[in-house]
Amino acid sequence: MATNEGLWERAQRVSPGGVNSPVRAFRGVGGGTPYFVARGEGAHVFDVEGRRYLDYVQSYGASILGHAHPKVVEAARRAVGRGTTFGAPTPGEVELAEEICSRVEGCEEVRLVSSGTEAAMSAARLARGATGRDRVVVFAGCYHGHSDALLAGGGSGMATLGVPASAGVAKSAVADTLVVPYNQVPEVANDVAAVIVEPVAANMGLVPPAPGFLAGLREACTKVGAVLIFDEVITGFRVGRGGASALFGVQPDLWCFGKVMGGGFPLAGFGGRKELMEQLAPKGPIYQAGTLSGNPVATAAALATLSLLDEAAYEELASYAGRLGAGLAALAREAGLEVQVPVAGPLVGVFFGPGPVLDYEGARRSTESGLYAPLMKGLLERNVAIAPGAYEILFPSLAHGDKDLHETLDAFSEVAAKLAMTTN
Ligand SMILES: *Cc1c(COP(=O)(O)O)cnc(C)c1O
Repeated sequence: MATNEGLWERAQRVSPGGVNSPVRAFRGVGGGTPYFVARGEGAHVFDVEGRRYLDYVQSYGASILGHAHPKVVEAARRAVGRGTTFGAPTPGEVELAEEICSRVEGCEEVRLVSSGTEAAMSAARLARGATGRDRVVVFAGCYHGHSDALLAGGGSGMATLGVPASAGVAKSAVADTLVVPYNQVPEVANDVAAVIVEPVAANMGLVPPAPGFLAGLREACTKVGAVLIFDEVITGFRVGRGGASALFGVQPDLWCFGKVMGGGFPLAGFGGRKELMEQLAPKGPIYQAGTLSGNPVATAAALATLSLLDEAAYEELASYAGRLGAGLAALAREAGLEVQVPVAGPLVGVFFGPGPVLDYEGARRSTESGLYAPLMKGLLERNVAIAPGAYEILFPSLAHGDKDLHETLDAFSEVAAKLAMTTN
């Protein structure tokens, strides 16, 4: 029988670090053997040894219905039988674009791609091409995938020109990327092509936008003709039908979508106003393409997923997240642990220390406590899986129910008591 240990050994021989995306390797929680998932069902995943975990990773937000939802499985199965990729347009692409545009007010056209990385990279290119400017403003702690120009790190708490956030990113690739602190409206100069932001930051733990932040960005961009890009790869189709732009009543010029919208498949997209989007090839001069873009199996799964996401679904998600967040915060207080549990609609984060956390500096201070790793490991021992990285958040799905909530809180209460003993 396959074991986690056995697979982990084999994986490390043939894959760099044993994984295909770094956070999965457990290095962010002090190492250890990852569980290898054999299958998922609803709120749970089962590892290759048959152990069941209540899953809050949910593919980092790509699964909103829970795993293997019968309707999505059936839609994908039927699509596979009709052929998996053609290199010609398919009806599903049209239907999905219509569905997205009908949900997201102000988004008139979408181009489908295969990952959030591609969506953000292409949106930045479109903004640069459309404005004839090079400079892009990003916020420290936000993540927009791993394309060179957007993989820039910044100085502490100040606006700085980006430095490469990874080996292999040329200094020249981030020379036009300005990194500024989240939740402060920066001065946007008239050489700025785009300001790209996660409208709710969910890649430095969970940091909701301060009142006026998003509206301030809108105003600053409009003033100088810069393109405002909302990277809604996490928030899109999750924080509500129309995503964060609808929730906060601020419309960007371009949106990036991914995760939820792919129905669990490699599918993402970016969209915006017609006159901007039509500057893309083939109509316009800005090149962008993809062999598997708008893949028919992925669009079928995406349409099946979105068809289940109505107002009631969003209320249910937010209700679960609200109760989970309040429960965790109360238990931490009881245990005498200083923990912040920010909640934004269906999203839940965990920060250690006195809060509130407003930006990357604050998030980093929280991780310096070193308490996330024993929290994650303690929960995992109790069959509750949260992401193996302190900058990740919890993603309850529509498959999570009351029983799961109680199990989570029971497990957390035990772990919190243990953590409190080691810290006090
Ligand atoms: C996950 C994520 C991306 C990158 O998406 P991939 O599909 O992993 O390439 C981009 N932006 C945000 C906000 C994300 O959370």
